Amino acid sequence: MQDQIRDILKSNHLSVTGSREKILGLFLLEPGALAHGDIEKKAGAKFDRVTVYRTLQTFVEKGIIHTIPTDDNSVLYALCKDNCTEGHHHDHHVHLVCNTCGNTYCLDNVVTPEIRLPKGYTSSQIDVVIKGVCANCNVSL
Ligand SMILES: [Zn+2]
Ligand SMILES: [Zn+2]
Ligand SMILES: [Zn+2]
Repeated sequence: MQDQIRDILKSNHLSVTGSREKILGLFLLEPGALAHGDIEKKAGAKFDRVTVYRTLQTFVEKGIIHTIPTDDNSVLYALCKDNCTEGHHHDHHVHLVCNTCGNTYCLDNVVTPEIRLPKGYTSSQIDVVIKGVCANCNVSL
């Protein structure tokens, strides 16, 4: 996995730092989205709040991770799989919040429906967040 992390950083012209390696590694291991607090906890005491924040901002700018809005006006972060590039995200997929386990998942193969806006309006981002039950939790029912 270490190679994969370095490859991602390298292809985005980012130098390899301890915090970037650690935080990117968390995303590669995690099937669901991560909140800022989760990332801070999992990254460990070695990285302070500001470092985590800056690292996440850099990853979002570079198109490595994308944000997902939540009910309480915070954001979650998840790895991009749709060939996002610096400043241009193409994460046109739906997200599902599981009512059972509380995790948020990227449904990479479910494309966000196109929404026709009235004349004069343009959209820059469409976020579709579905509430339901994830595949893992459905199996255990
Ligand atoms: Zn993206
Ligand atoms: Zn679940
Ligand atoms: Zn996503």
